[in-house]
Amino acid sequence: MRKIEHIGIAVKDIEKSNQLFASLFGKEHYKIEDVKSEGVKTSFFKCGPNKIELLQATNKNSPIAKFIEKKGEGIHHIAFAVDNIEKEIERLTKEGFEMIHKAPKKGADNKLIAFLHPKSSNGVLVELCQEIDK
Ligand code: ZN
Repeated sequence: MRKIEHIGIAVKDIEKSNQLFASLFGKEHYKIEDVKSEGVKTSFFKCGPNKIELLQATNKNSPIAKFIEKKGEGIHHIAFAVDNIEKEIERLTKEGFEMIHKAPKKGADNKLIAFLHPKSSNGVLVELCQEIDK
C-alpha cells in the first residue's frame, strides 16, 4: 500500500454536509459523483495533500444507510492507494484478511476499489483503490 488515498465519512444529508465541510476547510468540494452500484452519492474535498469523501445513501439498502442506522454519522472507511489492486487482494487474502469484494469493482473518482471486511481489520473498514489509467 502506498498511502492514505482518502477518508470516507458517512453523512445523512450531503448538501448540508457540503456546506459544513466547506466551512471547515475554507474551500468548496471539487467533485460530486453518484455511484449507482453502491447506492451512494459522494462528494470530495481536498485538504492539503489529503482527500475527504462524504457519502450519502441514495437508497435504503445502501451500505451507507445501514451504517448510519447502526452507528450514526461519522468516519466510515479509510482508503489506501495501491498500484495493483488484484495483486493486493491476493496478498491480503493469503495473509488471512477477509475481502468484501474478492474482485475489484468500479468506484467513485475514477478508481477500481475493493473493501476488506472490518471484522478482519480491528473494526476498521479498509478500502483499496487503484487509479484507472486514462
Ligand atoms: Zn472511499
